[in-house]
Amino acid sequence: MKIYKNCQSCGMPFKKDPKGSGTNADGQPSIKYCSFCYEKGEFLQPDITLQEMQDFVKEKLKELGGIMKLFAGPFSKGISRLERWKKN
Ligand SMILES: [Zn+2]
Repeated sequence: MKIYKNCQSCGMPFKKDPKGSGTNADGQPSIKYCSFCYEKGEFLQPDITLQEMQDFVKEKLKELGGIMKLFAGPFSKGISRLERWKKN
């Protein structure tokens, strides 16, 4: 089984997730998604597009300010490579 370090929806490191991760339908911790994206086996924002997610994360990083602001652009671009957004 693949081990993920970051949420495969928004890219947030699980280390930064106050709950550690999201949860699957059976209540077990999700290995793929964080608690902001995924609860009880469902996405909290099921209709969000890749573009919207990138904008959302970019804004969040800008809000944090300081050094994180510098990463906002490249980090949000990296979101397109996460599992949730991969196109087959
Ligand atoms: Zn997430």
